[in-house]
Amino acid sequence: GLKEWAFGLHLSSVYLMLARLCKMASHIVGYPRMGPKRELKFALESFWDGKSSAEDLQKVATDLRCSIWKQMAAAGIKYIPSNTFSFYDQVLDATAMLGAVPERYNYSGGEIGFDIYFSMARGNVSVPAMEMTKCHFIVPELGPHTKFSYSSHKAVSEYKEAKALGIETVPVLIGPVTYLLLSKPARGVEKSFSPLTLLGSILPVYKEVIAELKEAGASWIQFDEPTLVKDLESYQIEAFTKAYSELESSLSGLDVLIETYFADVPAETYKTITALKSVSGFGFDLVRGTKTIDLIKTAGFPAGKYLFAGVVDGRNIWANDLASSLTTLEALEAIVGKGVHGSLFTLSNCLYIENATDGICCLPVDKLVVSTSCSLMHTAVDLVNETKLDSEIKSWLAFAAQKVVEVNALAKALAGQKDEAIFSANAVAQSSRKSSPRVTNEEAAALKGSDHRRATNVSARLDAQQKKLNLPILPTTTIGSFPQTMDLRRVRREYKAKKISEEEYVKAITEEISKVVKLQEELDIDVLVHGEPERNDMVEYFGEQLSGFAFTVNGWVQSYGSRCVKPPIIYGDVSRPKAMTVFWSKLAQSMTARPMKGMLTGPVTILNWSFVRNDQPRFETCYQIALAIKKEVEDLEAAGIQVIQIDEAALREGLPLRKSEEAFYLEWAVHSFRITNCGVQDTTQIHTHMCYSNFNDIIHSIIDMDADVITIENSRSDEKLLSVFREGVKYGAGIGPGVYDIHSPRIPSTEEIADRINKMLAVLETNILWVNPDCGLKTRKYAEVKPALTSMVAAAKLLRTQL
Ligand code: GLN
Ligand code: ZN
Repeated sequence: GLKEWAFGLHLSSVYLMLARLCKMASHIVGYPRMGPKRELKFALESFWDGKSSAEDLQKVATDLRCSIWKQMAAAGIKYIPSNTFSFYDQVLDATAMLGAVPERYNYSGGEIGFDIYFSMARGNVSVPAMEMTKCHFIVPELGPHTKFSYSSHKAVSEYKEAKALGIETVPVLIGPVTYLLLSKPARGVEKSFSPLTLLGSILPVYKEVIAELKEAGASWIQFDEPTLVKDLESYQIEAFTKAYSELESSLSGLDVLIETYFADVPAETYKTITALKSVSGFGFDLVRGTKTIDLIKTAGFPAGKYLFAGVVDGRNIWANDLASSLTTLEALEAIVGKGVHGSLFTLSNCLYIENATDGICCLPVDKLVVSTSCSLMHTAVDLVNETKLDSEIKSWLAFAAQKVVEVNALAKALAGQKDEAIFSANAVAQSSRKSSPRVTNEEAAALKGSDHRRATNVSARLDAQQKKLNLPILPTTTIGSFPQTMDLRRVRREYKAKKISEEEYVKAITEEISKVVKLQEELDIDVLVHGEPERNDMVEYFGEQLSGFAFTVNGWVQSYGSRCVKPPIIYGDVSRPKAMTVFWSKLAQSMTARPMKGMLTGPVTILNWSFVRNDQPRFETCYQIALAIKKEVEDLEAAGIQVIQIDEAALREGLPLRKSEEAFYLEWAVHSFRITNCGVQDTTQIHTHMCYSNFNDIIHSIIDMDADVITIENSRSDEKLLSVFREGVKYGAGIGPGVYDIHSPRIPSTEEIADRINKMLAVLETNILWVNPDCGLKTRKYAEVKPALTSMVAAAKLLRTQL
């Protein structure tokens, strides 16, 4: 047989032959589906607008999937994922697979098509959409009576689609336990209902899917179980054992990969899952999961199982330090064991024949598989499309397409087939990044461990401010932006493209501000805003004016559905060469006698909505941004601006997944915020705004931000805010829980708003309550904003007369 024949050859030529024929042990957790130029976005939106057919949309999707698979195959990836494509998000895909459609969508069985699918995602004429979390997936709504049935064969059809191209893939499913842990009780179901109790009801559907995948020829299945990195209760951990034991017989004959990401797996959980018999491989995030390697070393790794080592960062855009990753991998290999590339002994043990896609291949079974830390959908798509980045910065970067190549280069090197050209180019780029003067300045690091806060307490400050501002009780204000019209977007675009002069641009923006100021005066709002017409994005606007930031042309990342964001890249030390907002704020203030809020984005939000450098701790970068914003705050104050709002819309988004890491994050994040305004006078009023209502758990940190006034979203759940209210009373700061939902085009009536304010007044002292919408107005139309704000002001006035 082959073995004898191989032994007849000179050893080194066997190696060479194997290297040529065998794919190295490389794996990709998942890949971006938007396409290098956001092809899916445009196809989706055109379909939703009725401008193209379902077939057109399918065609774009098929082309995208095929080109991704071919690209990974060409790069030499051995374990290529399928079913990581989605028309909206993968959790919704799992809901479709399980047929768990909430009743209100009138689903009557059968394969779920675009109709039901997009109705759940986006709502339809008669029924609103399901809830989207801040983590950007559609939350499954389950109850004791939810019926599950196999209703979307997407996983199987994607697998077959790839197979038809001659590409063997690993179908990816959201793991059953993670799916249930991400679900919430459906409407009308007891709040205390635990979706995890439905495990036994969803496993039969998983079994059907597995059987069909097996039948189609799959040899591996990947279950994404990211909840494994969270602090789980023991009954939740037990659910994993229960689920995978129950699936054991269905899974026999298949290799099963449990993929985790975003953090390390807690030691207890690690023990449980590595003991699962039906599972043959475990994927770990070795970038964010900093403790995983120690865990593997100390707790050990089960013999004969595969370790998928996520060394290439899926959540960032930096090129991997290949030499250092290789060292990590070699250390792991010592634990997991080598495949064929080691000794002759291993060769004779591992050689077997498999009918792979490129003919007969002798496949060494490498138990250590090089992988990405998580799906590459969290990074940008392809660096080749970046035409505007300078070549030095570009040499430091790797987007999804480049990361695929990195994974493979590492796998080859591990197998003794190191591509010297790739490794040495990478070493040059790494050292240029380390020694570049653009990234070596140490000012902010010194702030660690110190404390910065305003000298007086909030009540004293509010008194001092009130003497100057002389506001009525229940003062009215808005969150910052006013509607962004087509005209406005055009003006900004043309100015950027140098099609109109600076003079023309300033004139157009000035007119817009003046319109917004007049409108607010007519509406009789107390504290005005300039409307942010000069900004297309609350982070990009500042990033463009700060040093240390770079911008891509196509570095889009999907947030959900067709929505994409293009985060700036913080590559170096952040500083502020000159004032960023003073010109516009001063101009706006000159148009009115009422107080005009200066409007800034806070350091934590700028950090959390950017790709952040990975060569220093995040807090250091955050402190640098804080120092830059501090200068801006002080310049605004010097220019006569008495109220300054520093938005921290994304503070919560940066919370680590593990409780043990929360305190540290909150400590430096809140400190960063305080740094921005610790230097202002008592009479300068600092506002902050946050886009979420759920912060019962972090209320003490919010209070520790020491802002004078906090405005927050409050559109959905009044009761959740109660504890915030109560703490607020003790603390004494002004609080503005949004009195109407700006995410909806609905226009609230005066009575409705008055009613809401009254409910708040039942808990809050009159003198600390502010009246405002729950977020910026930029996505609304003037036809909605005018009547809504009219009702809001009328409601405040009505209540003032009654107090
Ligand atoms: N000031 C910003 C605006 O009004 C705040 C946006 C936000 O909270 N996301 O648009
Ligand atoms: Zn907001």
